[in-house]
Amino acid sequence: MTNFTPSHTFLSSLKGRSGLPQSTTSPMDFCKAPQLKSRGPTARAFRTWVANTHFKFSQAQTLANADLKIGFLRRDHGDGSPFDGAGGILAHAFAPTDGRFHYDADEQWSVGARPGAFDLETVALHEIGHLLGLGHSSVEGAIMFSSISPGVTKGLHGDNIQGIRALYNT
Ligand SMILES: [Zn+2]
Ligand SMILES: [Zn+2]
Repeated sequence: MTNFTPSHTFLSSLKGRSGLPQSTTSPMDFCKAPQLKSRGPTARAFRTWVANTHFKFSQAQTLANADLKIGFLRRDHGDGSPFDGAGGILAHAFAPTDGRFHYDADEQWSVGARPGAFDLETVALHEIGHLLGLGHSSVEGAIMFSSISPGVTKGLHGDNIQGIRALYNT
């Protein structure tokens, strides 16, 4: 699978921060970890896209049936785009129709704004944009801006909604 490259990598805006201590989420498949704290925020991010676009999503019963596969992985995890430990790259997603969306398991993740941590829902909104085919925005307030600071949350920006409508001609 090393011939795939992510459409982008989502970078934290604090490169090289001495990130200690770190959460230690084990690599796991999203749908095999129903208790994972990321499930709620990630699902909310999908619902936000559904509310603002023509897309519909549903939870697959098995990983093999899923068009979109979300997981927490660390370092080199077999897709040719290794993560880099705490800081730097936070997550990545592949452009359509690949469907893979990976969070870096070595980051400090949070549900909502928490100092020094990255909001799962905000990062999911960004990565889902890539799964749907959006590129990066130069507008700093936009969810598709290429980096995010810890301790902040963002929602969908009008530019992104117009972008997806233009892309799919809806
Ligand atoms: Zn991105
Ligand atoms: Zn990956």
